[in-house]
Amino acid sequence: MTGPARLGIDVGGTSVEAVALDADGSIRARTRNPTERGEDGVVRSVLAAIRALDTPAKTIGIGIPGRIDGGRVHDAVNLGVRELDLAGEIWRRCGAPVAVDNDVRGAALGAASRTRAKSLAYLNLGTGVAAGIVVDGRVIDGSSGVAGEIGHLSIDPRGPQCACGQFGCIEVFAGGGSIARRAGEPLERVAERADAGDESASGILADLARGAAAGVRALALAVDPEIIMIGGGIARRGERLRSEIAGALARAADGSAFLASLRLEERIEIVSPDDAIGAVGAALLGDRLGA
Ligand SMILES: [Zn+2]
Repeated sequence: MTGPARLGIDVGGTSVEAVALDADGSIRARTRNPTERGEDGVVRSVLAAIRALDTPAKTIGIGIPGRIDGGRVHDAVNLGVRELDLAGEIWRRCGAPVAVDNDVRGAALGAASRTRAKSLAYLNLGTGVAAGIVVDGRVIDGSSGVAGEIGHLSIDPRGPQCACGQFGCIEVFAGGGSIARRAGEPLERVAERADAGDESASGILADLARGAAAGVRALALAVDPEIIMIGGGIARRGERLRSEIAGALARAADGSAFLASLRLEERIEIVSPDDAIGAVGAALLGDRLGA
């Protein structure tokens, strides 16, 4: 197809992934470029992605970490952004309508486009842990914009302290940033040590599965979605992660006919790391603009 497309830009901590989406949802162009930090750096990175797509824009949707309010980004700490009128900056330079939302909520829309399910939760296990909830094609924002922030649900009051100030949050056990801090090395190294029989490394992986399983239960009990898709950097662990979380879900359901009846281990799916759901979902954010 030719003519204007919906552009979707997913701004991550290290790279910006972008797609141009045709009316039928197929990807016309796809690019990736490094993320520059700071307010000006983020604007430059998004503009570089738009230029690289080399496709006229019908709408521009941007998914970015942080608290989003009317196209403005607040406190995207990992990007070095305190406050940025991202929608305004991009609109002034490109002239196309711009929608901005939190990256995990954008990815949830992208995940929902991969299934016929009417209700879906997307659990992102990245540097941090958060979820997006989509019901009948709409993302739930909540009254103050924190719907889905289940990474800060405490599951162990005697656990390690979280950056949010609470103790034993899901994010402490299942967030890549916290795992790397506790282990002193990234998850891939922890997994290698666990494979070699190291007990402390196996314990970290067991905590990861327990934390992710608690997130799945929270989403299931609050929303009862048909599918819970799991993505983010940690989901690169693929089938092993799925079976570890399924095992933790089954152990928690042991002795509870109620939990067992929910068959949660059958509702979880891992997003393929090659699937650009963040950028695709960002492109779908543009549909909110009615352009
Ligand atoms: Zn927390």
